Amino acid sequence: MPVATLLKKGSAGSEVAELQSKLAAAGFNAGPVDGQFGSLTEQAVLAFQAAKGLAVDGVVGPATSAALGLGDPPAAGSLLVQLGLIAEDRFGLDVGECDAPGAPARWAPVGSGHSPNSFHHRGRAFDASGSASSTDAFAAFVAANHGPEVAELIHSPNGSIKDGVRVPSDFWPQATFDAHHHCHVAV
Ligand SMILES: [Zn+2]
Repeated sequence: MPVATLLKKGSAGSEVAELQSKLAAAGFNAGPVDGQFGSLTEQAVLAFQAAKGLAVDGVVGPATSAALGLGDPPAAGSLLVQLGLIAEDRFGLDVGECDAPGAPARWAPVGSGHSPNSFHHRGRAFDASGSASSTDAFAAFVAANHGPEVAELIHSPNGSIKDGVRVPSDFWPQATFDAHHHCHVAV
């Protein structure tokens, strides 16, 4: 179901936060998910509308809302799959160790390097690898746009999230980082 109200510059609240999250998941940078419809969000809406052949007015009405899936419940694993696709398409990373529902077959299988009860073996995680600068940028993107939705972001001792909350550098033991030179995302 599309959202019931028009969203435009100056709007605020949870529907705006969902809008920002949907835009980011679609690959459009709407700035931080803060529930404030400002200039960055407007620019992302304009770019989305142009890309989808919608009326380009920066206002989220029924057509734009429907195109974004605003108000629709998230499908199982969909955010994880969306983040993996963004890791590939926008950050040039290799995604693997993932057999989540809806994930491309190229991301599988989950190897024996992960413990049997890990998020990987429950279809809820992937590992993304590439250059240090690319994994840094992707981890920053995930933290900025989807931090509260992420069950685990393991990237470096200084850039980690557990259950949607930033965690201190000693939250995971060094061995965890040694096993994740890449960026681990679980949803
Ligand atoms: Zn991992």
